[in-house]
Amino acid sequence: METIKVLLVEDEEDIREMVHFNLFKERYQVLLASDGQTAVDVATKELPELIVLDVMLPKMDGFEVCERLKNDPQTKKIPIIMLTAKGEEEDVIKGLEVGADDYITKPFSPKVLLARIKAVLRRSKNTVKSQKNVFTLNDIRIDLSKRKTFIRDTELKLTYTEFQILHLLAQKSGWVFTRGQIVDSIRGENHAITDRSVDVQIVNLRKKMGDQGHLIETVRGVGYRFQENVTPL
Ligand code: CA
Repeated sequence: METIKVLLVEDEEDIREMVHFNLFKERYQVLLASDGQTAVDVATKELPELIVLDVMLPKMDGFEVCERLKNDPQTKKIPIIMLTAKGEEEDVIKGLEVGADDYITKPFSPKVLLARIKAVLRRSKNTVKSQKNVFTLNDIRIDLSKRKTFIRDTELKLTYTEFQILHLLAQKSGWVFTRGQIVDSIRGENHAITDRSVDVQIVNLRKKMGDQGHLIETVRGVGYRFQENVTPL
């Protein structure tokens, strides 16, 4: 079995040791960094499969580390899980908007972190595989070239904006998108839309999706995500 290389960036020693120990036990190869600059250097040199990145770090904070790595073609595909303080939803939003792939709030249990790491690794594999024109999730089928959406055999009458939102969320099921990211995905076509009107669009979309509407989940204080696809690869 191939070992998976994970970079852990955290300046608090007890958390670092706890996470290190648990990842090691699960046979991950663990690289460590305790400040932002070292994190960027190690990530660029070692190209880990995943990075667990704390927000509060000496020298360079986690947001800047994330932004730098996501802007570097060499490292931009490495999934990043941000560690944020409990109740700091703004940090979560900021993290996602600089390109983090997921987040976990402190304090957390090793079990939760391990589950999250596995989910993110699985998702980033799935994303690569699902880059085709038609994709199916649960009972939903989205045809990108024809811009049509079906639930079982019934076609949904979606507006341009609704289709864009559904497509954005569904193509990366399980990933959380902030309202800002949803707005950005639509803006390209001159459609005036604000953060708040995203909520209205989602309400309409869920209504049109009928019994499948629950597949779009609200992530309180942060944004929306499409329920993770649980069908095996
Ligand atoms: Ca810290």
